[in-house]
Order: sequence, then structure tokens, then C-alpha cells
Amino acid sequence: MTTLHLSGFPRIGAKRELKFLLEDYWQGKIDEQALRQGARELRQRHWLLQKGAGITLSPLGDFSLYDHVLDAQILVGAIPPRFGFDAATLSSAQYFQLARGNQQQPALEMTKWFDTNYHYLVPEWHADTRFAANPAPLLAQLAEARALGIRTKPVLVGPLTLLWLGKCKGGEFDRLQLLPALLACYENILQQLAAAGVSWVQLDEPILALDLPADWLQAISTAYRQLAASPLNILLATYFGSVAEHAALLTTLPVAGLHLDLVRAPEQLAAFAADWPADKILSAGIVDGRNIWRSNLTAQLALLEPLAGQLGNRLWLAPSCSLLHCPVDAAAETEMDADLRSWLAFAVQKLNELKLLQRGLEQGRNSIVHELQASDHVQAIRRSSPLIHRPAVQDKLASLPPGADQRRSPFASRAKQQQDWLQLPLLPTTTIGSFPQTASIRSARAAFRRGELSAADYQRAMQEEISLAMRRQEALGLDVLVHGEAERNDMVEYFGEQLDGFVFTRLGWVQSYGSRCVKPPIIVGDVARPQAMTVSWAVYAQSLTQRPVKGMLTGPVTLLQWSFVRDDVPRSTVCKQIALALNEEVLELENAGIRIIQIDEPAIREGLPLKKAAQADYLRWAGEAFRLCSWRLDDSTQIHTHMCYSAFGDILPQIAALDADVITIETSRSDMALLQDFACFHYPNQIGPGVYDIHSPRTPRLAEMEALLHKALQVIPVDRLWVNPDCGLKTRSWPEVEAALQRMVAVAKNLRQQL
Ligand code: GLN
Ligand code: ZN
Repeated sequence: MTTLHLSGFPRIGAKRELKFLLEDYWQGKIDEQALRQGARELRQRHWLLQKGAGITLSPLGDFSLYDHVLDAQILVGAIPPRFGFDAATLSSAQYFQLARGNQQQPALEMTKWFDTNYHYLVPEWHADTRFAANPAPLLAQLAEARALGIRTKPVLVGPLTLLWLGKCKGGEFDRLQLLPALLACYENILQQLAAAGVSWVQLDEPILALDLPADWLQAISTAYRQLAASPLNILLATYFGSVAEHAALLTTLPVAGLHLDLVRAPEQLAAFAADWPADKILSAGIVDGRNIWRSNLTAQLALLEPLAGQLGNRLWLAPSCSLLHCPVDAAAETEMDADLRSWLAFAVQKLNELKLLQRGLEQGRNSIVHELQASDHVQAIRRSSPLIHRPAVQDKLASLPPGADQRRSPFASRAKQQQDWLQLPLLPTTTIGSFPQTASIRSARAAFRRGELSAADYQRAMQEEISLAMRRQEALGLDVLVHGEAERNDMVEYFGEQLDGFVFTRLGWVQSYGSRCVKPPIIVGDVARPQAMTVSWAVYAQSLTQRPVKGMLTGPVTLLQWSFVRDDVPRSTVCKQIALALNEEVLELENAGIRIIQIDEPAIREGLPLKKAAQADYLRWAGEAFRLCSWRLDDSTQIHTHMCYSAFGDILPQIAALDADVITIETSRSDMALLQDFACFHYPNQIGPGVYDIHSPRTPRLAEMEALLHKALQVIPVDRLWVNPDCGLKTRSWPEVEAALQRMVAVAKNLRQQL
């Protein structure tokens, strides 16, 4: 039998059970025992589900109460000394303190897991970090699985990836210095697993898909030669990209098997298949673990059949990566158009696809002839369905005139035309868009969604909120006002719901970190804008004031990046279609008298491909898409953009090439250090470096903001500097917002007088 296995199942649960357990526990509504019991039930349900689907080797250790990278740190006994905890005796309270912090000790830092929207807790390495094997939690789960008759394979973060993902603390040193001690710890863990009767272990080394320095590649070689001496079989897993350039290294390592991501990088198979060693397993990551589309079984079989002929039982089948990144069950999407739903495969459906591929390989295509027909049918429909193909959109994109992504005049000339009508003072003050999403806003929206509030009443309620925000901004003396985004639930959902080509799920939740989940929209087809999305709100806001109101849009790259994207056309095409839809909105705003428009792109940096070689292409089309939003715009209309995570480093030239008239960025938490990059690069357009951190409830002090602005003035010419907070204010309360903005405006006014 062809072995079927997984790297991980979505731990959050089909109905976000883990989220609710965690939050109940944190709020003291349930005790630790109830939390552990709930978690155990969830694990068991997922294992039984896998068993029912015919999975040969289920993952062990993929379930975590918060994060599997945190669990890996505990497994090797490497808890940062600042906490003073001992991994072997760690309590639940201590575990969550590592993850969430408290008054005395901030949590471990959190950052994105490769190019996914999952966040892991960053290990902290010290030159003297010691390791101590602590496999007890893993062994306890092993016993649970055995009691259910489930065969498992522990899936662990590999030692090199774990080292790589951590940050050096207490001075710079080479993390690889820690490798010998870490390897000894892994050896010890593997021995204990083997002693407990485990025969296979999966070690994940996704860093192999990055551009790894030579010493790290050498370290992979040393590490796996050493670990392969352990008494169990090691499956070395790679994913999120091609590892073809390391084929010579990876095929000669003495490990028992290698897993390849054949969805992200099918072409890499050629580098491995021909000379695949006779004593090794090859695990084909054939079903997409990162997206939600039903597989093209016929195409997959065509790829697998020659491999199966060559390898026999040494071919294993699996999803491309952990299913952590997709929702649990498409069958729950009962409100979705049935045709559309039949195009989707969430985790449960993906297991079934593996099973079908296994049968097709073992018993021949005829044994799954109906399933293949159904799969072909879906592919054919997706190629032609009027639900998703909009010839007018395709034509418009195909016939864009050259230069459609360039403003009419260069920045210097635009800036003058803009200032002619804006007449803004030096150091103009503004905000990033959103004001507090108060309880009254949320309850009005909930009532509207339940059908208890009419559309007209909802509109009146939101207009009330907008007018309140306008009065408060006028009283504060801000120069450029915003309507406050009261009517928006979420910056992606709000636009997705109004654009053709997007669909929404009922339960398509994916873990973002800890108990936090996101429900990304699905971009199924060509994107079009049936009608204006923001114009009436902006126009209403403008009707209440003499000061300029800034219109507010989410940019094409961010809408793309935070959605599940169709896989039948290039991402660049989808992104440009979104841009054309936004361009219609931009033009309609301009026409309606909204002549400052902000296009938020907080996700532009995170869309960067893992490998350097692919980055230039991404940056080219992402920039083109952003600029396309301003096609045919008058020079005197001012385009702003906002980006939260502003450590741009070497992509600053491409950020500048977006040619936004004004960019607002997050800088206060880094004490304006990030601004230095902009200065060194001679960033040409206007900049609003955030002068205070909106993530904290405390009111920023006048002197702090003043000092930050003085720093900014040293590197940015005064006529190009704006004054604003770091990010949107929707998570704050009005008293906090008013107190902070009052001081921010005062600081700007003071400084103006000194200039
Ligand atoms: N305009 C959005 C807001 O103010 C921007 C959010 C973001 O940067 N993520 O909330
Ligand atoms: Zn932001």
C-alpha cells in the first residue's frame, strides 16, 4: 500500500473549538483540566477523521495549545532565561505567559511563518543557551494516539530551521555555534521516541526553500549525517518552494526519506526523480496545503504514475505542507452556491483526494473513473464558467495603453498642483483612516446583518458615527480629515463583499496565531466593481466640513495577499484586475470631489517571495498594480498610501517607485530608526512617519512626539513631512484617541512656529 501521511492538520477545529477553549480558559470560565480535556477531544477527533480517510501515518505534535514553534522550544528545553522557567516543569500558566506575556515580562516576539499568514513565537538565542530534551508532552500524546489505535509519526521543527528562526539576544554571535548542543538534544529526543516504539519521525526544514548561506547548507549535511545514526527513520521535509538546487546534497544524506512540495514547485521533481536512491522514500507533496481548490486528480495522477512505477511502495503521498493553512471542511459551506462549493477542497476534502490518488495508483485509473470524471468536469467548468469569466475585465486588462501605470506628471509638479488647492500648513496633520469601532457601531452592524435594522436605518446610524468623527476631528484641529471607516467590518472583507469575483465562506477559518483566526475571502474569478464602494460615505463626510477629506481604499496587493487566490491565472493578473476595479473607484471619488485618496498596502512587504530570484518579478507587478489604481487621475489629486510593517530595507527603491504622493509608515516603535533608511535612500516624495504607537492604550507624551519629529526633521525636508499616528485607531477608545491626537496636533503647531 502507498503510505499516506500528513505534516499537520488544522488544530483550531472546524468550529474554532480551540479558540473558544483558550479564551474561556484565559477568562477563567473553565479550568485547566477542562482546557486539556477539550484539547484532547479535538486531537482525537482529528486523528479519527484521518483514520477514517485512510491516512497511514498521522502527525503527532502538530497539535499545539498556542504554537508549534513554541512547543519545539519547550521540547528542546530552550526557554529564554528572562522568564526563569524550567521546561520540564512548565505549568499552563507559564506556557501562556511565554506566548502572551504579562506586566513583568513581555511575550516572545511573534512573526510570520515563512510566506504564510501564520505567526510563530520567535526563539531567543543566547551565546550560552543550553538545551535539555523534554519529550514528555509528545510522549503523552503518543499514548493518546495509541489508545485510539492511531499510527503516528512525530512531526518536529528540524534543528536547523529552529535555529534559523530564532533571534540572537545579548549581542551578536553565530547561531550555528549552538548547533552541536542542539543536535545532542535532538539525538536524545529521537532515542526516547525510538524507545517508546516510534519508527518514523518527520523533521521539517522549510529553510531549505530559502537562499541558504553555504555554512547553513554545510550544517544541514553535518546535522542529518549525525541524526541519521539514531535508531528510527527520519523523513526530512521541505516545503514552500523548490529545493532542486540542493538535490545532490539531499539525495546523499543518510536519511530514510525526503518530502518535496510538488504544488509550489512541481518542476523540482525532475532534479530528484531520475537518480532517486534505491533505499529512500520519496514523499510527494501533491495536494495543495496552502490553498482551497479541489485537486486536478487527472493531472496529479499523470505526474505520479511514472513515479509510482519507478518507486513502488517507496513513493508516499501527502499534502504539500501542513494543512494548518487551510480551513477544515468545505461541506460546512451550506450557504455557498453549490457549483462554487464543488470547486473547493478544505482539509477534510484534501484527505479524501489523497485516498483517491492512492487508489488510482494501486488499482489503476479505472478504479476511480467516476471521481476522475468529476474532477475533470470541475476543471472544465472552471475554465469556462460564466460565474467567474468576465470578458470585459480580461479585455480591459489586455488593452491597457502603455504608461497606464504612470501619473501624468512627475511628483514635483504634482506636489505643486496639489498644494495650490490644498493650501496645507507645514507639517500637516492627519490620521491613518479608522476611528474607534465602538460597541454602538458593532451592534448596529450586527442588527443590520440579522435583518433587524433596515438598510436605511443602518445608513443613518453610520452617518451619525461619521458625523461624530468629523466634529471631533474639527475640534482637534486636524488638517486632513477621514470619515473614520465606521461602516467597515474589516479592510479586506469590506471591499471583497462589494467586488464581483470574491466569495465568502461561513466557517473558512484559519489560525493566524494563538486563538486568533482569519477568514480569508476566496477570489474565484475575474474581479469587477459593479458599483461604487466608498463614494457615498466619503462624500457625506466631505459635506460636513470645509477641510479636505481623505478617501480610504484597501490596495490591490493587500486584497490579494489576504485572500485565497484562484490558481487558474497568474497572481499578477488577479492583482491587476483588482487594481482596475479600484481605479474606477478612485476616479469616481475624484469626480465626486474627494481629491485626496489613500490606498492602504500594509501587505506589500509580506508578499515578497522567499527566494531572491523571484522577488524582482513580484515587486514589478505589485508596483504596477498599485500604480494602475491611479490611472487617468488628475495631477492635483493626491494619492496617499499606508504601510504598517515598514522595515523595507533593500526594497525601498520599489516602495519609492510606487510614486504615492504621500506615504505614512509605522516608525514610533523603532524610535524613527526606520526613517533612516528612507533618508539614506533619499526617498523622493512626502512621508508621514508615525509619531506614536497606537497599539498601546497610554497617551503619548508631548515631549516624546516632539523628539521623534525633531529626529524626522533631521533627515526629511520639512516641506515633505506629515504628522500622523503609526496606524489606524479602530482598536482604541475615543478618550484615548482624543487625548493622543490633541497632543499630536499641539506638537505640530508648536513646531510650525519654531520653523
Ligand atoms: N486605513 C486602515 C485603518 O486605519 C489601515 C489599516 C492598516 O494599516 N492595517 O484602519
Ligand atoms: Zn497600519
